[in-house]
Amino acid sequence: MLIVMKSGASEAQVEVVARTIQELGFQSHVMPGSVRTAIGITGNQSPIDPSRFENLPGVAEVIRVSKPYKLVTLDLRPEKTIVRVGDATIGGEDLAIIAGPCAVESRAQALGIAEAVRQSGARFFRGGAFKPRTSPYAFQGLGEEGLRILAEVRETYGLKIVTEALDEAGIDLVERYADIIQIGARSMQNFTLLKRAGKSSLPVLLKRGLSATLDEWLLAAEYVMSEGNYQVILCERGIRTFAQHTRNTLDLAAIPAVRRVSHLPVIVDPSHGTGKNYMVTPLARAGVAVGADGLIVEVHDQPSEALSDGAQALTLEQYERLISEVRSIHEVLAPAAVS
Ligand code: PEP
Ligand code: MN
Repeated sequence: MLIVMKSGASEAQVEVVARTIQELGFQSHVMPGSVRTAIGITGNQSPIDPSRFENLPGVAEVIRVSKPYKLVTLDLRPEKTIVRVGDATIGGEDLAIIAGPCAVESRAQALGIAEAVRQSGARFFRGGAFKPRTSPYAFQGLGEEGLRILAEVRETYGLKIVTEALDEAGIDLVERYADIIQIGARSMQNFTLLKRAGKSSLPVLLKRGLSATLDEWLLAAEYVMSEGNYQVILCERGIRTFAQHTRNTLDLAAIPAVRRVSHLPVIVDPSHGTGKNYMVTPLARAGVAVGADGLIVEVHDQPSEALSDGAQALTLEQYERLISEVRSIHEVLAPAAVS
């Protein structure tokens, strides 16, 4: 259920509704909007009697939510969520670019790539310190040392840091050094991890699981939001299909599909979505063209020497060109996005 307040409702009236929800033993989620505030209710196992709220001052409407998700939905928040990290945004007017290596391999590697990322005008740097590898014998990341290097990148170039946490202890560490917690495709249904991320004050970049339906992905976002963290960014990174010409099949239809039901920003990962260097730029262009709020792209100064995902890494020159191309596409689309 969700409660829509009248446009002129006061903060005190919102507070009374939220308190009433809590007194019933449920959680209240206040979502202020430019026109009106809505309050989502979670934690109830059965329908709540709407008359508890209908006559409270400032309440315009009580709406029963029939969808399985209650907080990610446009019913609760008709305007898009803009995730803010300092003065950088994801979901706003700017095309958000998150770029960097798959894994932090050394200080020199990370700082070198970061310089090119900064030069491109991107605001976010990616790099894994904890890597979810298929083989236990493959490079697992530098761990906390990698996070320290990322913190140095942030300090040196002013880039906001996006990095993956594989477990709850990993989130504790990521919170100390980074700006956005990445939850990887393999962890999309690690529910204890999602709940922990939901208690964080950092935004969460939630990758779509390898075989996740739209509903499963949105419900994973719902896990994070139900704990009180509303700063979630969805990331389409390709799913498993029978196709053998790519590492994954990048499901670009997911972008308008998410847009139709959710207010959350959604970005595209053309690197994991294809697994192949020569496909990254065309799919990045396509991702922006279908309306993604941004891209997360893997870049390496020496792709052939990369300790993980070298085959899909762009060279610095390729990356630079990609950025200018996707910016042009975004500019063409921007007036339409605003209207
Ligand atoms: C990554 O971003 O390097 C990564 C491991 O991504 P995914 O979880 O999408 O495979
Ligand atoms: Mn990778």
